[in-house]
Amino acid sequence: MENQIVQQAIEQLKDENVRITPQRYAILEYLIEHRSHPTADEIYHAIETRFPNISVATVYNNLRLFTKIGFVDEMSYGDNFSRFDFVTEPHYHAICRECGKVTDFFYPGLEDVETAASQLTGYQIDDHRLEVYGLCPECAAKKEAAQNKELKEAAVKKASAFEK
Ligand code: ZN
Ligand code: MN
Repeated sequence: MENQIVQQAIEQLKDENVRITPQRYAILEYLIEHRSHPTADEIYHAIETRFPNISVATVYNNLRLFTKIGFVDEMSYGDNFSRFDFVTEPHYHAICRECGKVTDFFYPGLEDVETAASQLTGYQIDDHRLEVYGLCPECAAKKEAAQNKELKEAAVKKASAFEK
């Protein structure tokens, strides 16, 4: 399945007359196998042992190329920080405030919001991006465990003060 997706993307690159270098292939493969929305830096560190001459800039330029061709979305967060998402289906993102994890969720497209925005602003709207923020289940569980521990310690302290 993953392999098939890689092959499809390779075909798309060939159609665009993009040369398939081993580095380019490795970046693409990493993106398809790791749907964690990696940064250029993360991809660089994952493949640098296989390609000692590769630089973060090379990785970044390739990601920009994939974005331009259209099968990768760049999620930009200001200068020098973008996450890259290999997209087969439109979707939205939930982002953890604590650990920064990005999780996909699928929900009907908000085209009516685009229409409303267009009517309200006079803009010709052609795209939108939605992110919701909060705590991921793991971080929420950790926080709850920490709170429980605090409560328990407070109760023990109280009890021992009472015994004295
Ligand atoms: Zn988290
Ligand atoms: Mn995504």
